[in-house]
Amino acid sequence: MTMKSLKMRKTLPSRPVPQRTCVACRRVSHKRELVRLVRTASGDIEIDRTGKKEGRGAYICPQRACWEKALKGKQLSVALRSNITQENREKLVKDGIELIKGVA
Ligand SMILES: [Zn+2]
Repeated sequence: MTMKSLKMRKTLPSRPVPQRTCVACRRVSHKRELVRLVRTASGDIEIDRTGKKEGRGAYICPQRACWEKALKGKQLSVALRSNITQENREKLVKDGIELIKGVA
């Protein structure tokens, strides 16, 4: 065994990846593969691109079908225990679809 191979073994710790459920299709995925939405202190829902914002969160697949289903139905309101205003909803649909375009 060479010194080089010993050094390489130190990288990549295998930590379990948290699993989250999409509020629209209920599919379970790795947290990183889903888009997080968070309810802010003011009661608005916004997209949390960092995944680290404080507040109650919900996850949606980066797919248009799931995004629209979660927002047009009650899934997101229920998951976040919040009444989403029409204005907030429209903004989320717009931002979400833009975000998804970048992913897909
Ligand atoms: Zn989904």
